[in-house]
Amino acid sequence: MTTGRTGQRAGLSARGRHSRRKSHRMQWFSVTALAVLGTVMVVHPDVTGRRSLAAEVVAGAGTPVAQQEPVVVVPTPVVVTTPTPSVHLTTPLRPAPTLTRQPKGAKPNVTVSSGKLSVVPGSDKASGVRDRLTYRVEIEQGLSVNPVAVAASIHKTLTDARGWEAVHPVSFERTDAADVDLRIIVATPTLTDKLCLPLDTGGEVSCRVEDRVVLNAKRWMYAVPAYGGDVALYRNYLVNHEVGHALGHGHSTCAQPKAPAPVMMQQTKGLGGCRPNAWPTIKAT
Ligand SMILES: [Zn+2]
Repeated sequence: MTTGRTGQRAGLSARGRHSRRKSHRMQWFSVTALAVLGTVMVVHPDVTGRRSLAAEVVAGAGTPVAQQEPVVVVPTPVVVTTPTPSVHLTTPLRPAPTLTRQPKGAKPNVTVSSGKLSVVPGSDKASGVRDRLTYRVEIEQGLSVNPVAVAASIHKTLTDARGWEAVHPVSFERTDAADVDLRIIVATPTLTDKLCLPLDTGGEVSCRVEDRVVLNAKRWMYAVPAYGGDVALYRNYLVNHEVGHALGHGHSTCAQPKAPAPVMMQQTKGLGGCRPNAWPTIKAT
């Protein structure tokens, strides 16, 4: 302690006495040393109280001062530029995949909508000389159904002896022409809802709007629990009920428990105590 203080004092007095004789090199060294000390104290104002000045000088000497200064200044431009990337975040990184075909081994597709309809080619001529009602069958692309089998099933239902041809003087004729009286469409719940507007089919039921009979593929494939697994009978009902609307029939209800439900009853929503029935000629007695 004593030695250091003495030496310090001696150095100061010597600098005072011999200042004019100092070489330019020594002057430059002194100014540079003071500048480095000052810079280190400015850059690290918060640590000067915790570390010795000598330690700071060593740290300052090991690291170029020019590299330390930007640490204090850099954050400002980052804040200014951050709004720009948010514009990019509103755009998806890549377009959503459009699934129109199920992978091998997957469950049948009745819900993934392609939104595109295909007309089933071919025709089934009307029989007899009565009023001819032409229709074509359209299937939404990507559905796990056999279009030819669907068209055959629909025509068989419409021309069945228990069907509308036995009630009205009409003969159904299937065609694939553009100009038809009726379009019978099998579509996913999504497309059914669109094609049925302004009616609300809620992804579950089918409809008839204008010249469109829209059969919900979910119902076509799985029917409803009230039919006890008789999907073929439910399909008969579905076709006859919706085409019944096209022929001018409104809804009816179950009037007699355990009797066959009227075909124009909304059987998809419940049977009201009646038994499943698909045919307009079968009625409660
Ligand atoms: Zn109805």
